[in-house]
Amino acid sequence: MTQDTTTPSEAKNEGIYDAIIIGAGAAGVGVAIALTHAGVENYLLVDRDHVGSSFESWPAETRFITPSFPSNSIGMLDLNSIAIGVSPAYSMRVEHPTGQEYAKHLQSLAEFFELPIMENTNITSIEKEGEKFLLKTENSTLVAKNVVWAGGEYQYPSQGGFIGSDLCLHNSLVEKYGDLPGDDYLIIGGYESGIDAAYHLAKKGKKVKVFDANCPWGDESSDPSISLSTFSYERILDPMFEENVELFGETKIYSVTHKDGVYEITTEEGEKYRTKERPLLATGFSGGHKFVSHLFEERPDGFLSLTEQDESTITSGMYLCGPSLRHDGHIFCFIFKYRQRFGIVAEAIASSSDIPTEEFVAAYKSWGMYLDDLSCCGQECLTC
Ligand SMILES: Cc1cc2nc3c(=O)[nH]c(=O)nc-3n(C[C@H](O)[C@H](O)[C@H](O)COP(=O)(O)OP(=O)(O)OC[C@H]3O[C@@H](n4cnc5c(N)ncnc54)[C@H](O)[C@@H]3O)c2cc1C
Repeated sequence: MTQDTTTPSEAKNEGIYDAIIIGAGAAGVGVAIALTHAGVENYLLVDRDHVGSSFESWPAETRFITPSFPSNSIGMLDLNSIAIGVSPAYSMRVEHPTGQEYAKHLQSLAEFFELPIMENTNITSIEKEGEKFLLKTENSTLVAKNVVWAGGEYQYPSQGGFIGSDLCLHNSLVEKYGDLPGDDYLIIGGYESGIDAAYHLAKKGKKVKVFDANCPWGDESSDPSISLSTFSYERILDPMFEENVELFGETKIYSVTHKDGVYEITTEEGEKYRTKERPLLATGFSGGHKFVSHLFEERPDGFLSLTEQDESTITSGMYLCGPSLRHDGHIFCFIFKYRQRFGIVAEAIASSSDIPTEEFVAAYKSWGMYLDDLSCCGQECLTC
């Protein structure tokens, strides 16, 4: 159920919140629950829309690639869970939830944990003055000692960066693949979203060509942040996919043009492909963290430099949570990865308010929700 827009009671301590979390998606709701568990009460979870709104706007057919399974009884948290003890598989009875189903799950978590939420509130700027952060909304200024950016990626699509990319339709704007007209589709981007789009179109009998600058379906890495997930590999073997989809690896797109009702894609090698349907862009997301990059140092790859507590290295009290998180070469883009840092951020904020955290940390560690030693990351799976 969608939560009503609520204005939490005046922040204690002269209208200053101990923390404001921006974004009520998987990351924001997860870190809010961790803050509650850590004993921080005077905080606010703000969203420009409502809880789970990014998930709600996924194409209707798109499902989680990560499976949910109620494995909690032996202390192994369901891969899609964002809260200790909770299993989306158990509460939803579904292994690969749709975005709409997962949004409902987040909304019921927000209700269950009685999170202090301010919905329909767009944060338009964040600045630090002295020890306080000033967060401007369209009609007020919120004040906090700490800020957690959990604004996600979905609402910040990447436009591809080639000539004519604006002529294409980004996959995040597709409501339902089944409603797309015509029979021939060209998809630029062949990672999870591109393969997902190709699969749903192929199941409708449409002919699809997928182009990717690399070759995600051929990558040898066992890290799903780099190569395709098992779910997508299985889909590639579906007879309808095999019959209707052609995959073009190591094929960079140079331009897209639209003339006399025909779209023409030209590759950097000069090959040309035509269709009457608007080409689909599955080039991912540029990352909402750009919105707060003035408060962080940037790494050479454009991601944000973070301390061991996921705090900015130049603005104390400014934290990052969610899929944009990077430490060295480790990519935390999946829920089961970045959720392990909620406890780290919650502990840092609780400690800054002199709240004891030993029991909280022990509980989060026991659920695999407190990853403070990154030396275990980056292992490849054995081939056997
Ligand atoms: C098609 C697809 C399939 C995926 N499948 C999986 C999967 O199987 N498993 C998995 O682990 N991950 C998967 N992911 C990744 C996963 O969806 C993301 O990691 C997750 O959505 C990120 O959650 P988030 O809370 O960071 O961002 P979001 O869910 O986007 O939430 C961010 C929130 O911030 C709000 N917001 C943004 N800017 C502002 C602002 N300025 N002011 C106020 N509010 C703001 C938005 O309204 C939004 O509600 C998938 C992603 C996609 C696109």
